[in-house]
Amino acid sequence: MKKIGVLTSGGDAPGMNAALRAVVRACKYYDIKSVGIRQGYEGLINNDMIELGPRSVKNIINQGGTILKTARSAEFKTIEGRQKAYNHLKQNNIDALVVIGGDGSFTGANIFHKEFNIPFIGIPGTIDNDIFGTDFTIGYDTALNTVIDAIDKLRDTATSHDRVFFVEVMGRDAGFIALNSGIASGAQDILIPEERDSVEDLCSSLERSEKSGKKSSIVVVAEGEKLGGVFELAKQVQNRHPEYDIRVTVLGHIQRGGSPSCHDRVLASRLGIAAVEGLLNGQTNLMAGIRSNKVVFTPIDEAIKKHNEIDSELIKVANILAI
Ligand code: ADP
Repeated sequence: MKKIGVLTSGGDAPGMNAALRAVVRACKYYDIKSVGIRQGYEGLINNDMIELGPRSVKNIINQGGTILKTARSAEFKTIEGRQKAYNHLKQNNIDALVVIGGDGSFTGANIFHKEFNIPFIGIPGTIDNDIFGTDFTIGYDTALNTVIDAIDKLRDTATSHDRVFFVEVMGRDAGFIALNSGIASGAQDILIPEERDSVEDLCSSLERSEKSGKKSSIVVVAEGEKLGGVFELAKQVQNRHPEYDIRVTVLGHIQRGGSPSCHDRVLASRLGIAAVEGLLNGQTNLMAGIRSNKVVFTPIDEAIKKHNEIDSELIKVANILAI
C-alpha cells in the first residue's frame, strides 16, 4: 500500500479535523502518501483532491467543522457516479480509503468496495453517538458540552422569570444527546425517540415539580421524539396549564460547531491512527471505534445495521433526580 485517500462525508462533527490530522500524520509515520478528498464522495466524482503532508494539517486539531468540507452526494448513489469515483481513484494511484462520517457514508463505502474492491476503513464522526461498535462517536462529547452550556444560560433566564423552557436538541433517531445533556443540566423531563412518552406524563412531572416548590423547569426534547415536535408539545402543555409561562428554544446547528473537546480530540487522534494501521495490516470493511477505552474494529455491516441502545440506568438516573 502506497497511498491512502481520506474524506469527510455526511453530517459534519467537531473533531473530524483532528481525525484527518491523525490519518495524515500516521501515513507519514508509516512512510506512505495521503490524499485529502474534498466534499466527501463529490470530491472523488469531480477529481477534487489534494496531496497532504504533516504540515498541511497543522493548527486544525482545535478547529470544528472539516477543512476538507463535507457533502451529501446523490451521484455517488448511482453506479455511474461510483464508476467515475473509481476512475479518479485509479488515476491518482489511491490504494485505499479512510471514510470519516456516519452510517450513510459507511453504506456508500461498503457498496463501493463490493463493486470495485477498494479497501476502506470507517471512522465514526457524528454528534449523535448512534453508531454501533463504538462507545463514543467523534463530535458527541463536544456537542453535549455545547448543549449544556446553552441550557445553563437558558436556566438563568428561566429562573429569573419563573418560566418553563422547552429545549429541542439534535437527535432524529437517537436520544443520547437529549438524555445525557438533560441529566447534566438538571432537566425536569427528557423526551427521546426511544421512549414512549405522553403529554399526560410530562404534565404530571411538571405539576409534581411545581408542588415540590420549583418555580421554573427545563424540558429537554430530542428532535425525533414521537409526540409531534417541541412546539406542538409546548402548545399542548400550555393548553392544559394556561398559568405556565412557557418558552421554546431550538438549539439547532450550533450543536454541530465549535472547537472539539479534549475527549473528541483524543478519540479522533486514536481512531485516525487505528484506521491507517488497519489498512496497512490488510484489513478492510471495518469501522475503528472505542470500547471500554480500547480501540476495536467492528465489521462495517454490523456498524451499519445494529444500533446502540439507550442505557436504562440513565433513564432511571434522570427520573430519580427529577423528584
Ligand atoms: P452520514 O454519513 O452522516 O450518515 P448520509 O446518510 O447523508 O450521512 O450519507 C453520506 C453520503 O454517503 C451520501 O450523501 C452518499 O453520497 C453516500 N451514501 C449514503 N448511502 C448510500 C448508498 N446506499 N449508496 C451509495 N452511497 C451512499
